[in-house]
Amino acid sequence: MHGTSGSFYQFIHIQEKTVLHCLWQNIDYKKGVKIIKLEEKDKLAGKVIRSFCVKCNNYTNHKIVSNYRIDDSEKIENGRYEISWYDDYQMILCLGCDTMSFKHDSSFSEDWDPETGGVNTIIYPKRKQKIPLELNHLTPEIDRLYREVIDTYNIGAYTLSAIGIRGLIEGICLAKNIKSGNVPVKEKGKNNVKKSNLEGKIYGLLQAGLISAMHVEILNELRWLGNSAVHEIEKPRIEQVDVALKIVESLLELIFGLEKKGQILKRFRKR
Ligand SMILES: [Zn+2]
Repeated sequence: MHGTSGSFYQFIHIQEKTVLHCLWQNIDYKKGVKIIKLEEKDKLAGKVIRSFCVKCNNYTNHKIVSNYRIDDSEKIENGRYEISWYDDYQMILCLGCDTMSFKHDSSFSEDWDPETGGVNTIIYPKRKQKIPLELNHLTPEIDRLYREVIDTYNIGAYTLSAIGIRGLIEGICLAKNIKSGNVPVKEKGKNNVKKSNLEGKIYGLLQAGLISAMHVEILNELRWLGNSAVHEIEKPRIEQVDVALKIVESLLELIFGLEKKGQILKRFRKR
């Protein structure tokens, strides 16, 4: 019995070695003939790229171990124009910690964006580039929206993140019962105008003493970011959303966290 299974495993071992050898040499192991057509798949193999590592939690050098490209093109309008597209499926290895990931780059000539170079990238396993901060004392609605903004950011849905960031500012105003504010008019001699839109509410936060004039300036910038995301469906850049998210996080800490900490301090004094 032992001898039989031993030779069986030996057989499997030889088979495995044969298959591996054939794969290595690009030989069809069943027919024993060399595959003539060299796949385009490994043109990018060996190339080193910068990518976010799920384990190092940072941008590190990655080696493309294997790449498989599928591309095609089509003539349109009686051959006057040509549209083209490609998909690159890659196995990439982090040169810092040896973690392997799967990367899918896709590009379509009619969807060319100068910001991204026209390439959309998805990496598996998903990269958790941002972990929600431990922001205490938020209202349940704001806490939920904040976590959703982080989720959309982490999957690269930056338009939705920008819209969510704008929603967080609206949420702060709602939680603090700020419904309007007096917006200054630039022309001399004119009085402030009471507005109940987001701009008005941001001034409302200032007039309620919750934020400073510097915050108003910064929040007005964020207001524009959310505006263009909603109305012009313009995809914001990761750097823009990154900064916007940091500003909103510090604002949430300022308005909800600091207030609570202040109350705790006061309680100590009363004892
Ligand atoms: Zn790594």
